[in-house]
Amino acid sequence: MDFFSDYTLTIGGKARATERSLAVSNPATGQPFAAAPAASAHDVDDAVAAAQAAFPAWKAMPVEQRRNCINAAANAIKAHADELARLFTLEQGRPLEAAHQEILFGSFWLKSVARMELPVEVVDETPTRRVEVHHEPLGVVCAIVPWNFPFLLATWKIGPALLAGNTMVMKPSPFTPLVALKVAELWREILPPGVFNVLSGGDELGPIMTAHPGFAKISFTGSTATGKRVMESAARDLKSLTLELGGNDVAIIMPDVDIDQVASEIFHGAFYNSAQVCVATKRLYIHDDIYDALRDRLHALAQEAKVDDGMKPGTQYGPVQNEPLYRRLLSLIEEARAEGLTLLTGRETPQNGGYFVPFTLVDNPPEHARVVAEEAFGPVLPLLRFTDVDDVIRRANDSNYGLAGAVWSKDVDNALAIAKRLETGTVWINQNLQNLPHIPFAGQKESGLGVENGVEGLKSFTQIKTIFIPKVQEAASR
Ligand code: NAD
Repeated sequence: MDFFSDYTLTIGGKARATERSLAVSNPATGQPFAAAPAASAHDVDDAVAAAQAAFPAWKAMPVEQRRNCINAAANAIKAHADELARLFTLEQGRPLEAAHQEILFGSFWLKSVARMELPVEVVDETPTRRVEVHHEPLGVVCAIVPWNFPFLLATWKIGPALLAGNTMVMKPSPFTPLVALKVAELWREILPPGVFNVLSGGDELGPIMTAHPGFAKISFTGSTATGKRVMESAARDLKSLTLELGGNDVAIIMPDVDIDQVASEIFHGAFYNSAQVCVATKRLYIHDDIYDALRDRLHALAQEAKVDDGMKPGTQYGPVQNEPLYRRLLSLIEEARAEGLTLLTGRETPQNGGYFVPFTLVDNPPEHARVVAEEAFGPVLPLLRFTDVDDVIRRANDSNYGLAGAVWSKDVDNALAIAKRLETGTVWINQNLQNLPHIPFAGQKESGLGVENGVEGLKSFTQIKTIFIPKVQEAASR
């Protein structure tokens, strides 16, 4: 199998070419390097029909066999991690080693989910009856994923949906379709035909899919604005829905931290993947006592950070992934400069037509500045002073988002007290960016609806059937 050409849709376990195609650019050069298929409404119909046809047998299969299939799929990913990582870097921009980590982590994720159990629950047991709750699959799941973690975030949906007995049609982002297309190609011989279908396409494809009546559930990860449109579309025939959306996450740094010890971890939490992480620190509140020292330390780290083409050895951070984001980030920086805000800029970036944004810290801007109020989703980070804990919690919670947050302090009890008052679905104490298959992940407020991961996430790919069962003696005595 050639990972670097011949990209086709996977429908019903078979390759499908399309009339139209979609140019895929390398963010490190800004130049197109591959053509992905652009699926039509007809392709959506066929993929849904294939997934519906595969559903009864997949659902009826003993769960052990589904586990085996998912494990085999995960093994195939691991066996081809080198090729997939190179393709990942070409389309997504992340440095090769980190791309490799995402591919292997995705494989690990699938294997971990494959071990999960969803037993029948007995919720009432009396001398005369037993009441059981069964978790049944929903049917065909529509999975829509973004470009920032194009493989890992797909596995968050594929693993639990398939384990629970659903089939799937997945749509990667138009900016990063290639890894998903090749993963589906790899799995054509591993999963029964129709269980996992992948369609790539342009901006028109998502709305066609979410409106399709053949889907029982939509599992969407992306921006809050798009999430709202997906919810409107799902409402028409009351599809089940999970939304993992944007965030404008805070980290609160208390004055007792050891700056030397934590600075690089705080930097990592804000800038990993060139800050294109839904749960990245996007507003950094630093206590006044240590503000100047930590600011200078973070600025030094930004000046050391090597931002370049992810294929070059030694590159620590890649370009941002796409041109619209690149232009938006440049305008955000320009606007901050025009407003007279103090910008602390990192090391120089290549000037070659690639989407390279200089790492930028904004020194204590006002709360209403666009760099604070908006989710930047790129390497532009506001540093904000605080002195009073109540005040910083109020400022942290003054957002429509509620995805994640972090508190840094040597006093873990105090950090926990602060964590409990943050209006976010996840809070990390003295760490960040941690997610694992058995740990539920959910956004509060406009950061999401429902939950992914953990048993709760697995259950979200099922519907409940409650069965009232009389005890034998009672039934016989009637
Ligand atoms: P996006 O909303 O633009 O696109 C996400 C996906 O939705 C893409 O596949 C896109 O093609 C598709 N899409 C676009 N319009 C659609 C429509 N009308 N109907 C159906 N699908 C449609 O988001 P993005 O720019 O790809 O991703 C960045 C955003 O995702 C950020 O806001 C980030 O915080 C968020 N995100 C959230 C999580 C999370 O788990 N909460 C994880 C990663 C990213």
